[in-house]
Amino acid sequence: MLTFLIPRTEFALRVTPMPKHALTITDKFIYSTIKGLLNLPQRASREIVAISPHLGGGGYIPLPMQKDILVLAHAFRMLTCRDAYVREKSWASLREVVHRKIGRMSPLPSKSLICRYLTGCTDGDLATTTAAVSTVWSRTRKATRDLFVAINPRWEWSDARQELSLRFAHPSQRVDEIIVPASARHRVLALLRRAAVEGLRRKLCAKLDQGKAYDALTASRESSHFMRSGKYTRFCDWRFIHRARLNLLPLNAARKGAVTSRRCRVCRDEDETLPHVVNHCLRHSGAWIRRQDEILALATNMEGGDEQTGGGRPLPPPAGSRDHGGSGGSNSRGGCDCSLR
Ligand SMILES: [Zn+2]
Repeated sequence: MLTFLIPRTEFALRVTPMPKHALTITDKFIYSTIKGLLNLPQRASREIVAISPHLGGGGYIPLPMQKDILVLAHAFRMLTCRDAYVREKSWASLREVVHRKIGRMSPLPSKSLICRYLTGCTDGDLATTTAAVSTVWSRTRKATRDLFVAINPRWEWSDARQELSLRFAHPSQRVDEIIVPASARHRVLALLRRAAVEGLRRKLCAKLDQGKAYDALTASRESSHFMRSGKYTRFCDWRFIHRARLNLLPLNAARKGAVTSRRCRVCRDEDETLPHVVNHCLRHSGAWIRRQDEILALATNMEGGDEQTGGGRPLPPPAGSRDHGGSGGSNSRGGCDCSLR
């Protein structure tokens, strides 16, 4: 789908006034399919479908958002085109649209006012509610406003440098904003896409019920190493892990509505929550030791500390292995009971 279907729709999404409700219908089908592949119930947050596979998501940007991003990138490229004829024609067309918006009796709009129009401002000269004809610029203004929650895009004009730039939320987790100047016009589409995905990731992580575990695991790409290759992952692991990451397992303490008991169905000592099942339930301590042994065995091989090479640093013995009689080399992975998967 990402290789053949989506690229074929890009040109149509970029230049045609396609109604978003038509895209939403298509999106619903794609959401349902991807959630089925990840073994997620339909009540799972939609953001998981858009997040990059490197961070454990489906890698599919919703079509309405995809359309807004393409419209923005297309407008930015036209207004910063290296071909002076195309660039001047684009600015003239945009100035005409803004002039019509603020009233024919007003003086020609400045480039700062034009940027405020594209950003979607509705104050000052732009407070009029003139019924405008749909143009590529009015669609750019609407797309900018629709992307406000995800990436907060703003068009800016620098009088000193006589240059247009686009400012929006940074596509990484550490920096707040990024400014794309005209000289980086060829990167604007990729940066907008990455920023939109990052915006959806932040939205998911802010959710108290489904985002808590996800906030921790997206701190490192290694947490989702299996998404592309499926290495070290059995089918039961695959069916379990996506539900567990979103706290959607059918656990007693995670059920909504009236429940007969919140206690763990294995030990009966604590509430059956996700942290208890994965990390705290003592009935699974044997699995913890086997997991620790396997991690150490993998680390030993990576360090080159096996018998054949004789190198590498010595690693500590697994915690509690003497007390519990844990043994390495088991085929079991993870510290959770298969009966919950
Ligand atoms: Zn328990």
